[in-house]
Amino acid sequence: MRRKLAAGNWKMNGTTASLSEIEKLLETHPDPACDMLICPPATLISQMAWRCRTKALKIGAQDCHWNASGAHTGDISASMLADAGAMHVILGHSERRTDHGETDAMVAAKTGAAWAAGLVAVVCVGETERQRDLGATLAVVGAQIDSSLPDGATAENTVVAYEPVWAIGTGRTPTLAEIAEVHDFIRATLVGRFGEAAYGIRLLYGGSVKPSNAAEIFKTSNVDGALVGGASLKAADFGAIVDALAAA
Ligand code: PEP
Repeated sequence: MRRKLAAGNWKMNGTTASLSEIEKLLETHPDPACDMLICPPATLISQMAWRCRTKALKIGAQDCHWNASGAHTGDISASMLADAGAMHVILGHSERRTDHGETDAMVAAKTGAAWAAGLVAVVCVGETERQRDLGATLAVVGAQIDSSLPDGATAENTVVAYEPVWAIGTGRTPTLAEIAEVHDFIRATLVGRFGEAAYGIRLLYGGSVKPSNAAEIFKTSNVDGALVGGASLKAADFGAIVDALAAA
């Protein structure tokens, strides 16, 4: 059985004033029947992790460098994130791939660095609208999985998030059949490469998940939870998504 995971990506949003949202979430969801993860900006990791140290909510990061240390102005290594209290790190988000030119090879190197620092890598894959229109979704996602995950992925060190680029922050989502098709394909791809143990790797759907559509998405084949952007910023919305997941 895979334990479900509701993960929030705060992106470049949040200051110390936003810590109250974490307090609210901890108050309303002290012991949910699924895992909860919030990935705030790096500036908030340490304060959030301290508040959550004995709680059901885990704190993660949104990116890391592939090197452990060195002359990389503005970057943060995986071991620094772990030192700040992060337990997970999102890697290969489409906004990083687009805004920072991150390639699958870079994502793979970052994933290896995350594992070496004891972090769980939440590796994101997903097609653009044009790629979907061309009928290339499975080929694109398959290639991203092959090249963004190094050898050695396990249920303990890796979560995969399927995030169609055209669904992120747009309010649009694929049909449930389209989500199921890609998630079943990702599961088969992972099992083909990493063996039976890959049945334990959690697959998250991401892209405009909100309280009103979460329950139906969570009934979909091979969906073990969600990576949530905008709707993770408010404790009430994220809490409603956690409730839907816990009930699925
Ligand atoms: C994301 O950025 O990972 C995401 C899924 O965003 P949103 O939920 O806002 O579409």
